Amino acid sequence: MEVDVAVLGGGPAGYTAAIRAAQLGGKVACIEREPELGGTCLRVGCIPTKAWVQTAHALHDARETFAKLGVAVTEPQLDFAQAGEWKAAVVKQMTGGVASLFKANGVEWVRGAGRFTSTTSLAVEGGEDVTFRSAIVATGSYPINPPIPGLDSPRCVDSTGLLAQTEVPKRLVILGGGIIGCEFASIFERFGSAVTIIEMLPHLIPLEDEDAGKELQKAFKRRGIEMHLEKQCTGVEDTGSALVVRFGDGESVEADLMLVSVGRAPLVEGLGLDEIGVPTDRRAGIATDDHMRTAVPTIYAAGDVAGRWQLAHTGFREGEIAAENAMGHESALGNPAVPRPIYTDPEIAGVGLTEAQARERHGDAVAVGTFPWVANARAVMSGATGGWVKSIHETTYGELLGIVIVGPHATDLIEAGVVAIDAESTVETVADGIAPHPTLSEAIKEAGLVALGRAIHLPPKRR
Ligand code: FAD
Repeated sequence: MEVDVAVLGGGPAGYTAAIRAAQLGGKVACIEREPELGGTCLRVGCIPTKAWVQTAHALHDARETFAKLGVAVTEPQLDFAQAGEWKAAVVKQMTGGVASLFKANGVEWVRGAGRFTSTTSLAVEGGEDVTFRSAIVATGSYPINPPIPGLDSPRCVDSTGLLAQTEVPKRLVILGGGIIGCEFASIFERFGSAVTIIEMLPHLIPLEDEDAGKELQKAFKRRGIEMHLEKQCTGVEDTGSALVVRFGDGESVEADLMLVSVGRAPLVEGLGLDEIGVPTDRRAGIATDDHMRTAVPTIYAAGDVAGRWQLAHTGFREGEIAAENAMGHESALGNPAVPRPIYTDPEIAGVGLTEAQARERHGDAVAVGTFPWVANARAVMSGATGGWVKSIHETTYGELLGIVIVGPHATDLIEAGVVAIDAESTVETVADGIAPHPTLSEAIKEAGLVALGRAIHLPPKRR
């Protein structure tokens, strides 16, 4: 098959690139080896995990919130088989949606595993070979398996293995307190597992604003999730009926299942890239310029494999940029505000700089305001008052530098911060804007008012 643009991988970066190139008039083939399109995100990542997050939220609401709000229900039970069916149905609808979009845009899906044979051709195992004018590599990433003795036990699974469980483990150990580990900890504690997290660093979600990590630790502690921070796992023993997970200085914990979630690495091996002059790195992925172009001018890379971020939404944007340049347009990534959603309970989301990063860059010329949900009417009436919104700006020009949210619907609310930071807004633009009342979104404006020292809905700070 001869095309203008060949896209290797049908995940968020790849399918977006394919659709965008087709919109611009290109003849496009997308090579995907899995039986469904959508990649990690739709099949075994963002979408199925968040379907379970919804089940976990529903259980919590039924157990603790409904009665407060005057809705009487009998003791809610988890129907794990139905939760699994719901998850599968959501995944099917979303992956099927990508296949329909391909048809509607005239994108050809070549099913099979692709490998570059030259700077203008791909051999596809299981499908038709493809020659192209430009190609976009969007092969994603895979879970890292650390060299810890015993991890080859079938009781040690990665995120895909945990999503495939048909029974809730009584005792679940999670190795790694990053985003994926914490999201699963939050889900499975609600599902009834006794959850233990082992994390090497001093905080959970170590890349996020430190206060957000501490808030999550407090909430997890209240929920009975065991956390062993600054502890390394040294070995795992499968006794036949359970796992003994050793960590730190001779400590251990028993478990029925262990999630290994210590990070993901870009998938660059076996693609023939180095052979055709595109250098690859097992940790950093494929180096690209601001146009997503690799060292070979006809070949672009986007998404997890390009190594900048490991997020579906950055993959979407990188895919668009790669496609536009591949089709002869001029498009650059620049320095966009990237939201960082975390679907734990409480939810967490940040955009822009964390407080520590802001202070590192701007020294004392930084002001921070934190507005607690307990002072927001919509949060109070929802019975969800844990957490806060933090607004961070620099005091020379008043430019908004960051927003961090811990609490209800944080992952939806953060978009307001994305727009404000991309527009290089001042904190006054946000704080003096009129937010609808009563809404959760008011808390972003209110955090700005706190940072400016003019909070209305909080008592003045004692001098
Ligand atoms: P992928 O989605 O990994 O797609 C790559 C595709 O390429 C795959 O379908 C693969 O089969 C295919 N492929 C690879 N090699 C070949 C080959 N040689 N030939 C043919 N096909 C090939 N991100 C978020 O933004 N929000 C979230 O809530 C979120 N939750 C997550 C939860 C989990 C459990 C996990 C694991 C990840 C989560 N992510 C989330 C991350 C997100 O899934 C990834 O960042 C995103 O999928 C990356 O998109 P991509 O297109 O770069 O790669």
